[in-house]
Amino acid sequence: MKKATRRRLDLRFLMLAFAIFSALATLANSLVVAYGVQRDALIHATLEANHAYAAKVASSIGAFLASAHAHLDYSAQQLAEDFTSQRLLHAEARRLQEQDEDFNTVVITDADGKVLHTHPDNLLATGSNLNSEEVRRSVEERRPLISHAYTSSAGNLMVFISQPIFAADGSFLGVIGGAMYIRQNSALGTVVSHHFHHDGTFAFVADKNRRLLHHPDNKRIGQVLKTSATVDAALRGETGSMAVNNYLGVPMLAGYAPVPNADWAVVAQQPRAIALSTLGKLMQSMFLDLLPASIVGLLLLWIGARWITRPLQQLADSATHLSQAQTIDELGRIKAWYKEPAAIRRALIASVQSLHRKIGRLSEEAQSDPMTGLANRRGMNAALDMLDQSQRPYAALALDIDYFKRVNDNHGHDAGDVALKQVADILNQHSRADDLACRAGGEEFVLLLPDTDTAGAAAIAERIRIAIAAVLIPQVGHITISIGVATRGPALDDAPAILKQADDNLYRAKAAGRNRVVA
Ligand code: GH3
Ligand code: MG
Ligand code: MG
Repeated sequence: MKKATRRRLDLRFLMLAFAIFSALATLANSLVVAYGVQRDALIHATLEANHAYAAKVASSIGAFLASAHAHLDYSAQQLAEDFTSQRLLHAEARRLQEQDEDFNTVVITDADGKVLHTHPDNLLATGSNLNSEEVRRSVEERRPLISHAYTSSAGNLMVFISQPIFAADGSFLGVIGGAMYIRQNSALGTVVSHHFHHDGTFAFVADKNRRLLHHPDNKRIGQVLKTSATVDAALRGETGSMAVNNYLGVPMLAGYAPVPNADWAVVAQQPRAIALSTLGKLMQSMFLDLLPASIVGLLLLWIGARWITRPLQQLADSATHLSQAQTIDELGRIKAWYKEPAAIRRALIASVQSLHRKIGRLSEEAQSDPMTGLANRRGMNAALDMLDQSQRPYAALALDIDYFKRVNDNHGHDAGDVALKQVADILNQHSRADDLACRAGGEEFVLLLPDTDTAGAAAIAERIRIAIAAVLIPQVGHITISIGVATRGPALDDAPAILKQADDNLYRAKAAGRNRVVA
């Protein structure tokens, strides 16, 4: 019964594979969780840092603008004392412009917005640098103002900071204002870039039209942002941080803050990828730290799997040859050190013992022939069933006494019986412990020889034939016997086929003249 059996996975492999899988899954899970926690912490820290950075820059710009207003206010008070003095206007405008270079141009207008004086004193140039709209607004509103950015007719991007001039009696005299060129990166740029930044972090400033007043990339100054959640939030007066995509779609971690007293927004941001760049290294070192322990763990798993599966594997090996005599000893030697294999071993030993007892009993009692003491046909069939179920090879001999009718005829039936008993004795003498001699019916016998190949079986048959021919049977004299041999093999897999083969060979032995063995 040698079927081409498919190779199955064994228990140790399955346990090991499962254990390795769960260990790796746990490791991967902890790495993923750690990655998530670290990433969130880094993002949070970066957002906080940029928030603080934006607020700091905004407050510095606020302070810078407040100081500009304060300077303008001081000049306004000086001018109010004698607004008609051309000399005073000139002196004050010059002092203001040259003293600390906050302003590129200083302008003084009357209450109608007419330019009375500029410094540097180039009316044509300065006049063209001024936006009459901005001047008119400061004249109309009569309060300190900071304009949004605008491009002058001369093409300069600038903001206009102004202060009203009031006489001692409270009457409105005019405006003093300073124009600050933005692209020339003077005062404003200095304030912004004064702040420390690193690793791709930068700040930009936009006015209420989202026009860039400052940007580390000089080319972008003056451009108008199409949309910007951060700028819009700061322009609403909010301070905070958020993760956004920049105008190129690059994810950024940004902080934002409004500039006090000016409708300007400051945004400080860092590309998310740069903020998270340390994360890869962190994970790598964490993985390397975990590696030795993981290897030791896997080794322990492997040893453990061996230890646990060993008794089961040995039990499975023994279970393939339960009918063999040494199986009980083999089972006894297996170290079944935990409950399940111990229970299986107990059950196997009990069933092997009962199997052996059953096989033993077959040649006696109910399944035996009373006259010869051999197994009868029922006993033979039971033995064949058992052999069929096991993988054990065996040989079957079919034996038939030659011309037995004549023995009966010549010497009587009783003498015939004596001859039958004599043949049975000889069969028993030539049987090993595991062999089973059967009386298949009448004067026909079958001898089953487990673990015997054709050559071995033919040799035994030959010895039996010679022994029978040699014995002198009382009242009968000499008889002979013909024997057919068959063995279990790939072509002959079940008992009926094997017996048929043995019978066919017996028939050939008879046909060839009897008293011979055909294998
Ligand atoms: P062959 O060589 O062809 O076998 O010739 P054979 O005479 O032996 O022929 P066959 O096997 O057909 O004969 C069987 C005989 O065995 C018939 C029967 O009288 C005899 N026989 C069957 N059972 C018994 C028995 O229990 N006791 C006795 N004495 N004879 C039996
Ligand atoms: Mg016969
Ligand atoms: Mg016969």
